[in-house]
Amino acid sequence: MRLLLIGAPGAGKGTQAVRIAEHFGLKHLSSGDLLRAHVRNETAIGRSIKSFVDAGDLVPDAIVMDMLRKPVVQASAEGGYILDGFPRTVDQAHSAYLVARELQVQVQIAVHLKVGQDELIRRLTARGRGAEDGPEIVKHRLEVYASKTVPLLGYYLERERLVSIDGSQSPDKVGDDLIEALTEARDRLHLDAANA
Ligand code: AMP
Repeated sequence: MRLLLIGAPGAGKGTQAVRIAEHFGLKHLSSGDLLRAHVRNETAIGRSIKSFVDAGDLVPDAIVMDMLRKPVVQASAEGGYILDGFPRTVDQAHSAYLVARELQVQVQIAVHLKVGQDELIRRLTARGRGAEDGPEIVKHRLEVYASKTVPLLGYYLERERLVSIDGSQSPDKVGDDLIEALTEARDRLHLDAANA
């Protein structure tokens, strides 16, 4: 199965992606984690993107797309993937779709983890992961999400491939709801091993 997870910063994408990956035997690919690893390891990519990540701005599309191509293709050959944090814009979704379709690794279901603004701010400021989670940056990241990423929901809704889950519940309940909804969607779309 090939999935992607859309949610605001603080919606619980990382936690839930791990659970979904374990349950369905998928590779968890987090664009944010991969980018942060580049920054931490001071790679050439890391040096060129640090200022974007620290400011809560989106990293240029080409960097993220190049970084993900190989792991996505590899994961697709090994049972599927759950992408967490990519795509972040309709442009990224469209470009990725064109490339992925050629390689037959395109996304089959998009999942939206829905959490209200107050709860997001509470979670993000409690997390304190560094520069990225300072109060001003948190506010900015939520604005970037609202303006650039929320339109993606319409994009996937039009394709009738969007599953929406209430992410404000306890992590266990969110995980249970996700697994139930995805199992149903998998069966409905006949995403069996042959095209997983
Ligand atoms: P995340 O952990 O998904 O919230 O991502 C952390 C940061 O990495 C974001 O604030 C962006 O700076 C960058 N990032 C992650 N995914 C993407 C993406 N798909 N496109 C552009 N920038 C991204």
